[in-house]
Amino acid sequence: MTRLELTRYLNEFLQVSNYKDYAPNGLQVEGKAQINIIVTGVTACQALIDRAIELNADAILVHHGFFWKGESEVITGMKYRRIEALIKNDINLYGYHLPLDGHPMLGNNAELGRALGIVDAEPIEGVAQGLVWQGRLDKPMSANDFSALLDGVLQREPLHFWGKDKAIHQVAWCSGGAQDYIDIAAEQGMDAFISGEVSERTYHSAQELGIHYFAAGHHATERFGIKALGEHLASEFELTHHFVDIANPV
Ligand SMILES: [Zn+2]
Repeated sequence: MTRLELTRYLNEFLQVSNYKDYAPNGLQVEGKAQINIIVTGVTACQALIDRAIELNADAILVHHGFFWKGESEVITGMKYRRIEALIKNDINLYGYHLPLDGHPMLGNNAELGRALGIVDAEPIEGVAQGLVWQGRLDKPMSANDFSALLDGVLQREPLHFWGKDKAIHQVAWCSGGAQDYIDIAAEQGMDAFISGEVSERTYHSAQELGIHYFAAGHHATERFGIKALGEHLASEFELTHHFVDIANPV
């Protein structure tokens, strides 16, 4: 397919215009006009770009692209080397941030809920652009069992803050660095909140709000959406797709 067709399809499918974001969503660096091979990955780091070059990619699709609000606007150093590699190899770079967290079918939150077997999963209405999700476990589960479930699904041991003694039934979650939504999860009466990262203050919040907190990994909770997007594109169009996981302990 052409770059123009892919750009139009993605922007529409991911409902880009519905989000107010910290980085531009869509085509960030322009490459060749015809696209046959796509590579997906969480972050547009040098290792991902190098692997995409080896795989003869025509386009790279990521959750964490370039040009974040607040970062230096000049193209030097590490940023230069990444962009130079893309341009020299004529590779398109697409970045989709919040639209890929919130997508109702294959977003990070929808996919995480599905992977954990959470039932009646849906965004909490009116909160943070629909990015905080809630649902319940089929049967209440001890915090230790739930921690083991996260470990098994994400292949990464979560950091657990013990907020209450009760078993876990109602759960809220938001992929990535969304630990500060713990207040909202507690207000909604949830037994546990899951996000990717943790701050020093999160420990006290969990204790004082009486809610279990699980830091399950920013990278680990955000692998789902971009991979599912690549698989979706390969099933809809004549594209070869490779998901490349560049490990990250955070
Ligand atoms: Zn993220």
